[in-house]
Amino acid sequence: MIKVLANDGISEDGKLLLEEAGFEVQTTKIPQEELPTKLNDFDALIVRSATKVRKELIDMAPNLKLIARGGVGMDNIDVEYARSKGIKVVNTPAASSQSVAELVFAHIFSLSRFLQLSHLEMREKGDTAFKDLKKSYAKGAELRGKTVGIIGFGRIGQAVARMALGMGMRVLATDPMVKEAVIELNFPGFDGVKLNLKVDTVPMETVLSSSDFITLHVPGGDGPLLGAKEFEMLKNGVVLVNTARGGTIDEDELVNALASGKVKGAGLDVFVGEPTPRKDLLSHPNISLSPHIGASTTQAQTNIGMELAEKIMDHFEG
Ligand code: NAD
Repeated sequence: MIKVLANDGISEDGKLLLEEAGFEVQTTKIPQEELPTKLNDFDALIVRSATKVRKELIDMAPNLKLIARGGVGMDNIDVEYARSKGIKVVNTPAASSQSVAELVFAHIFSLSRFLQLSHLEMREKGDTAFKDLKKSYAKGAELRGKTVGIIGFGRIGQAVARMALGMGMRVLATDPMVKEAVIELNFPGFDGVKLNLKVDTVPMETVLSSSDFITLHVPGGDGPLLGAKEFEMLKNGVVLVNTARGGTIDEDELVNALASGKVKGAGLDVFVGEPTPRKDLLSHPNISLSPHIGASTTQAQTNIGMELAEKIMDHFEG
């Protein structure tokens, strides 16, 4: 029987799918320090980001045939080394795109109506100063007709575009590798109705200078993608959203641009120095915050589990 160790867990549906196909799945976590002596009992290892799969561990598990990462980044796995040993390494890049895209709009909606602030103030004085609060938060903005700039037009970027187009927003996307993408809008409530809209990408400068909202969906890089030079090009009063990687937006530049009013608000799911982001970001009134939960919906976790199960079955059953 093929033995699978899901050391950082797997959704119930994914586990069931594997078990029904005759795989044995262990979800009891083996502590990192015990893995070198125990991993070799398994044919496949499923991890999220917690379990580290380094060269030394790979060397101790010659029976291992597959490493599967639930999610996108593979920083915790020595991928090339594993492959050089004939171990297949797979991940589930598409499973959480919708989840991240919806969080982007959660932040954008929040910031457009100051919910990140009004919620706190309503708690404190909603019963004594209702009318004052009503006045303070009367200058909200609507999204329809506004322009969303998407930097990185891959899976998540395109999921954001799909939502934006559905809401009547204009889309400006930039990506050095993608010239155009056909965005399929389908309407489950109206059986079979589909709309294919072709979006051509534009230069980065156009996105920076012409967008009311800008959201980043690029892989982690060395330096910030939005630094001093890029901030200068932004439209006054833009809202920025970062669900990509901490540091993709320069945090010092962001704080300065919020102070000057160049940037009206920011939605942040990722931070430099996680899990201890800088305090001035956490306490800023015009920043809507979430603790790196882009992929954390029940549906995304189920999708990840199902995709993992399918990839493992494909590998072992051809
Ligand atoms: P993807 O590979 O499908 O798309 C990334 C795109 O960015 C590619 O098309 C690439 O060509 C483009 N790109 C690279 N450098 C660029 C640049 N300088 N300017 C413009 N475009 C550039 O990736 P994805 O699945 O869309 O994921 C995007 C990001 O989202 C990743 O960094 C990932 O780590 C992050 N993510 C975050 C969460 C979360 O919990 N917040 C969850 C999942 C993914």
